[in-house]
Amino acid sequence: MIQKQKLRDVPNDRKHLTAEPSRKLKFAKSNQFQLELRQRIDLFFYQNGFTERDCPQMYLKTFVLLLAFFSLYSSLVFLAHTWWQSLIISILLGLVMAGIGFNIQHDGNHQAYSSRPWVNKLAGISLELIGGSSHNWHWKHVIFHHTYVNILGHDNDLEIGIFGRLTPEQPHLSFHRWQHYYLWLLYGIMAIKWQLYDDFQSVLSGKMGENKYPRPKGWDLVIFVVGKALFLTLAFIIPLLFHSIWTVLAFYTVTTFVLGIVLSIVFQLAHAVEEAAFPLPLEGTKDIVQPWVVHQTETTVNFSRNNPLITWFLGGLNFQVEHHLFPQICHIHYPAISGIVEETCQEYGVNYLVHNSFWAGMVSHYRWLRKMGSST
Ligand SMILES: [Zn+2]
Repeated sequence: MIQKQKLRDVPNDRKHLTAEPSRKLKFAKSNQFQLELRQRIDLFFYQNGFTERDCPQMYLKTFVLLLAFFSLYSSLVFLAHTWWQSLIISILLGLVMAGIGFNIQHDGNHQAYSSRPWVNKLAGISLELIGGSSHNWHWKHVIFHHTYVNILGHDNDLEIGIFGRLTPEQPHLSFHRWQHYYLWLLYGIMAIKWQLYDDFQSVLSGKMGENKYPRPKGWDLVIFVVGKALFLTLAFIIPLLFHSIWTVLAFYTVTTFVLGIVLSIVFQLAHAVEEAAFPLPLEGTKDIVQPWVVHQTETTVNFSRNNPLITWFLGGLNFQVEHHLFPQICHIHYPAISGIVEETCQEYGVNYLVHNSFWAGMVSHYRWLRKMGSST
């Protein structure tokens, strides 16, 4: 976390801003843009007779992804005979686990899956199946990240340890000059750390980075403990009954590396790119100059909007602008509302940011890492 004395390292044009941790930031009052956008989206749903949640396509997708998960897992543990079969299945399993993360748990934990809270809860705990914690995710992602996107000291996604510098206000260390090469490897390892260390450390300390959060209690604690026990049983105990420890560790690592790198890249492409803004509160205040809705739009970047395969697999997270503006609308609707959002942004002079392809987003993330790594 950046300290006050580090402000001397901040570029001159950002010195009126401050990265000191302060709770409850205040965004500027909502403006006409927000009201107009909400009205247009409401009209879209009314005119088309759509519901915002409980989309049949989402239930079908859940069935397909869970079936793929259990089929691949069973094949890996019980059927694969050669190392190359296990390698292919592990890679596919990692991709399907990322798909569960992008689609089922993400919509569930945002209350975007269904209008029934228990259905959202059930969808949300699919995160436990891939090694995470729905309670921790709610705080880390839904509260800290979504409320305070790209604001250092508040958005936990900016804090990836000393090895990565994602904003101009984070301290610069000499080895950051190579971060655009080595961070990709670290992204892969992050899911292993998250499954086996971070969640436990957060629950024990009651903290995520600089943010304090309520530890799980009651049913949330039961879900945390049972969820981790179930995951460790699936990942290690059952496979160890049939294979050597080195085989189990090797293919656990491959699967989780694929999961980690895919999850990290997709989330980084939305915010850690050259075009995204990294606002801070005005110095000495807790005030953010933009209204919340403008802040969300200008700190977030879409990519590859015309690729239905990417949209399906990523749970609409290539439409991150729409997701950040309307996180409680099921992602199935993002492509349809995207045009309305873009048009309204243009009318009101709000930056609507988009990369035409996945590759363009990757290049921009690479350049941003290189830029943050080279400046002092
Ligand atoms: Zn989200």
